[in-house]
Amino acid sequence: MIRVLRLLSLLSLLEGVALAKEVHVVATVPTLAALASEVVGDHGEVISLALHTQDPHFVDARPNLALALSRADLLVLTGLGLEVGWLPTLLTGSRNGRIQPGSVGYLDASRHVQVLQIPTSAVDRSMGDIHPGGNPHYHLDPRAARPVVVALAERLGTLDPEHAGDYQLNAKLFLVELDAAIARWQEQAQPLRGIPVIDLHRSWPYVADWLGFEIVADIEPKPGVPPTPRHVLAVIGLARERGVGLVIQESWLPSNVSRTVAEKSGARLLILDAQADFRGGQTYVQHVDALVSALVAGVTP
Ligand SMILES: [Zn+2]
Repeated sequence: MIRVLRLLSLLSLLEGVALAKEVHVVATVPTLAALASEVVGDHGEVISLALHTQDPHFVDARPNLALALSRADLLVLTGLGLEVGWLPTLLTGSRNGRIQPGSVGYLDASRHVQVLQIPTSAVDRSMGDIHPGGNPHYHLDPRAARPVVVALAERLGTLDPEHAGDYQLNAKLFLVELDAAIARWQEQAQPLRGIPVIDLHRSWPYVADWLGFEIVADIEPKPGVPPTPRHVLAVIGLARERGVGLVIQESWLPSNVSRTVAEKSGARLLILDAQADFRGGQTYVQHVDALVSALVAGVTP
């Protein structure tokens, strides 16, 4: 009898395992994956298509990424054209109707964010400006992380109503942690207020807006366009004139021109991780922690 009961409980346990639906979330970039995993908790798996060391504008559309997308219940992307060079091919290759644009499994996070630098005149991507819909680099701004997390909780609840309450709770708990971190970061970043900074690619306006530093020039004349020697000289001239002490860039871009600008203008060059090391286990809060600490160290004598 006991054996039969054991067998029955084992069977119901197995059945329970089979019934417990795992939600599969695919994010295009690691920082969005880090945010999604806060909300998903233990109800599924989250993966990122791009590595944190990869330029998110240019990712190889490899078959293994299409395979990952073929299993996804939810795709979360940056939007604003950041992934336009590689995601459409992968989406077609995935043959997954659940995550195509317009379906409930397609979440364009930029729709929930206050977008900066929306062009007022027509922009031609063929001429090299890779930010035609406004600046897509909001990942590092925790003020943008908040609405993205709220949107993720809502969408996951629609896809998996059984756990909708858990997604809401996970989001709320994360936002409490985030708010405390934001207060801490803003205090820590006081030395950055008002200082002039030069960046290489236009990835930093959200962070500058949040922490109160001023980006006086971009080494790239337009996003994605390499600078001419004349433009580099103009940037160096401006750096000297404005007393720029900091040149910043993402780790995935070549640093030779930034280094020249920094050396010629007596500034420090900071090479920063602009995406969370999600595969390495870094959380969103740890990621922004590292960024704020690096920026503050960059202006500390
Ligand atoms: Zn960009």
